[in-house]
This record gives sequence, C-alpha cells and structure tokens, in this order.
Amino acid sequence: MARFLAAEAFSSPSEELALLPFNFERTGTEQFLVSNMVGDFIRLTEDEINKLIDLKVTPGDGLYERAYAAHLITGSRQKSQQQLLALRLRSRMSFLREVTPLHMFVVTLRCEHSCPYCQVSRQSTDRSRFDMSEATAQRGLDIAFESKSSRIKIEFQGGEPLLNFGLIKMIVSAAQAKSAVLSKKVDFVVATNLALLDDTILAFCKANEILLSTSLDGPADLHNKNRPRPGGNSYELAVSGIRRAREALGPDRVGALMTTTEASLGRVDEIIDEYLKLGLDGIFLRPLSPFGFAIKTKQYHRYTAESWLDFYRRGLRRVLDINHQGTPFREFYSSLVLTRMLTDRPIGYVDLRSPAGIGIGALVYNYDGGVFASDEGRMLAETGDNAFRLGHVDEDNYRSLVLSDKLVDAISMSLTQCAPECSTCVFESHCGANPVHHHATQGDALGIKPLSDFCARQKGIMRHLLRIMDESPRDAAILRRWAGS
Ligand code: SF4
Repeated sequence: MARFLAAEAFSSPSEELALLPFNFERTGTEQFLVSNMVGDFIRLTEDEINKLIDLKVTPGDGLYERAYAAHLITGSRQKSQQQLLALRLRSRMSFLREVTPLHMFVVTLRCEHSCPYCQVSRQSTDRSRFDMSEATAQRGLDIAFESKSSRIKIEFQGGEPLLNFGLIKMIVSAAQAKSAVLSKKVDFVVATNLALLDDTILAFCKANEILLSTSLDGPADLHNKNRPRPGGNSYELAVSGIRRAREALGPDRVGALMTTTEASLGRVDEIIDEYLKLGLDGIFLRPLSPFGFAIKTKQYHRYTAESWLDFYRRGLRRVLDINHQGTPFREFYSSLVLTRMLTDRPIGYVDLRSPAGIGIGALVYNYDGGVFASDEGRMLAETGDNAFRLGHVDEDNYRSLVLSDKLVDAISMSLTQCAPECSTCVFESHCGANPVHHHATQGDALGIKPLSDFCARQKGIMRHLLRIMDESPRDAAILRRWAGS
C-alpha cells in the first residue's frame, strides 16, 4: 500500500484556482479585514480583495502567495488545503467530544447578602422551601454521572451555597463513591462569597481538593456598595477569605470574579490594583448579565456596551502596563479570546462556542429539582421565564434532558455558523452563540445581532485586540503569551 499521496496532490496549482470560504469586513476606506474558515486574519486593500474574488492572482504577484498561505484560495484539483482546514476545524471543535462536563448544584437559594444586581434572585428566609433536599441531590448526581464525559466538574452554586454546607458534604462524598465505581474523574468547585468561611470548611475543601470561586468587585467602598450584607463588611470578609483560602489550599485553589456596575466604570485601575494587591494572577473584566435582580432593579440598563468597552480597553491597558513593569498578570476573557484567535486549541467556554454550551456544556440542578440548560437559564426562571427549564430530576434522565426538543431547538436555532449576520462575520470563528442572553434581552434565542450588546462587546474586544497586535510589538508579545501561541 502506498504510504504517500501521488506527487500531483502536493503540486502548486498554476491555472485553475478556487476560492476557499472566507469572511471580511471593511476597516477603512481602502482596507479590509479578512478571515478564513478557521479564523486566521489577513488585511487586504480593496483592490486586492477585488482581484482575489475575481481570482485574478498569479504565482509571483505577491497576492497569490499571501492568499494561498492564508488558506483563501486553492487549486481546484488540490485536496491538501481543504484537508488541512478540516483538520484544524476538527481540532478547534473537539470540545464537543466531552459532552456535559459541568454540573451545577444550586444547593440553596438563600443568601445573607442583598446585592441589587443579584442575577439569581436570592431568598433570605424559609430554609425548607429554598434548600435542595438530599433526595433531589442524589437524583441530580445520578443524572450527572450518566453524562458521557470522562471527567466531570460539580460546581456548588446558590444563593450562598455555604449556607447548606451539610448538603455539599453529602454530595461530595456520594460523588466520590460514584466516581470510584464508574471510573469517572470528578472535580469540585464552590462558588461562594466567603463570608461564612471557617476552619472546618477550609479543612473539608483541602481534604477533598475543592476549588473556591468568589466575587471581588474592587476596593472596599465599591465592593460593599455593590454587595450589601448585615454589618456592611462584605469586602473585609471576602479579602480575608481569599487570603485564608490561598494559605490553606494553595494560591491557585481560589479564584475571584468581578462584576461591572455603573459605579465601577470610572475605577478600573483601582479594581485591577485590588486584585494585584491580593496576589491574584489576573482579573476577569465582566459586564453585568441581564438576569434576576439585575433586570428587576434596572441595574442592567444603567450603562451601554460602548461604555463597558471603554472600561475594558482602559483596564486592558492597565493590565499590559503591569506586565511591562515585570509582574505577570492577565485579563482572563482576553486570554480566552486570544487562544481562539491565535491557536486551534478547543475552547469549551460556554459563551465562546457554537454549538452553544447550554445542556451539552453544562446542566444545572436547581434547589427544587428543576433541571436547566445553563445557570443563566435558571436565573431567568426565578423571574418567571422557564424557556430553558429542561425537566425535573424526578421525571427525567440525562438522555431525555439533552435530547429534549426545547434544548435541540435552542441550540440549532442559535448556531453562529448559519445565523444571519454571524455567518458572514469576520469574527465568527472566535465568537459564540449566546441563546440565553439573546432570549433574555430580545425574546429570541437567535437574536438580532446588530441590536445585541453581546455582539457589540464581542466585536469591540476582538477589534481592539487585533489593533493592539498590529500597533505594538511589545504588547503583542504579552498577548501572544496569554494565548500560549
Ligand atoms: S455575535 Fe456578533 S461578533 Fe459574534 S459572530 Fe455574531 S455577528 Fe460576529
């Protein structure tokens, strides 16, 4: 059997050329940004793009070589270009091999904070009504272990999940027992405000290799304003909790997330410095999400996508300067986007993938046994919208949940690969479908992208990252490092 294809399969085509799929957008009077089907970018002038589309390129004219190297043209009889693109696409999409790796258990909806932008509509009273029962947790675990992923992550959510620490202990122990029997690796994360952290909880987390994920919105006055609690000491408790957890569990076992409110907009440098001061290795600059109390209290509408982008751009500048001063520190969302832009590594992050991560990326078991396609989906349900409620732990199994018409419809309806606007967008390869966001803001899982603040932010972030890489080799070197390229 021949081990190699015939020589002509590799020969450079000299006459018959064919275009490969690409998208483009005008970036100036004469300039276009062009991306091939795996998202490699190239800049072309108007004259060049017209020549390319008419296939008026010939070996030696420079444009032919650039277009060929960028996988924009191929010989019509040649297969190697398509094979290479197919291979790269397969690698980029291989996150689909791990189906539903994330399972979130809302162990209680109770919380001792009363944040006006709370996205889950926490409750302060009625333990019996708003805590998950052991029977519900057990059934949720059965479903989680039915998913085909070889490794699953169980994330405890609330409310404040540490208010139902007893149930967390029970779930961890039952999951470990199942993990041993079914040979499925299991990791644990608790998403907590850390206000109730004590030595017993820390010891349990250490013994069971549990990660902690918390919230830190910035300096004391800003954090405490965003996150009211009795005593007005949310910041003090979060900061001491982060320090204690880093000491007890290790510096990489606790992470923090910030949420941008209107009050944060002018203070991005101070917010970043707060993270730096705590020894954290980066920050995730996050806009508010359109769910729960964030909508009820009108927090979500207090700033525009453009004002958030301005906040992000100033923040990224600050983060790059910190790196230039010798401290490695990153902005995590930019890192994710850059990894997509500069490498073919699969990124399964729920907002940066198409097919969307709802259901096939994560399932959420609510305190009352309802099962949702995403955390945002259960947040919507707390304000009366059950569009992403897939079923109930007592009535469904993994298969009936992920093959439900509701989920299949929402995923297929929102694919960026064929959605209006997205399918011709120069950033499509690096973006994601976000059906829950578009359902919440526009009443439609697909969404009208020119009116979408998610789309505006995605385009703004990617254009800004490309601009930095074009204009500053020093900054570009740092951005490339974040992507590991
Ligand atoms: S959401 Fe916007 S940025 Fe993303 S692919 Fe669609 S059109 Fe492009």
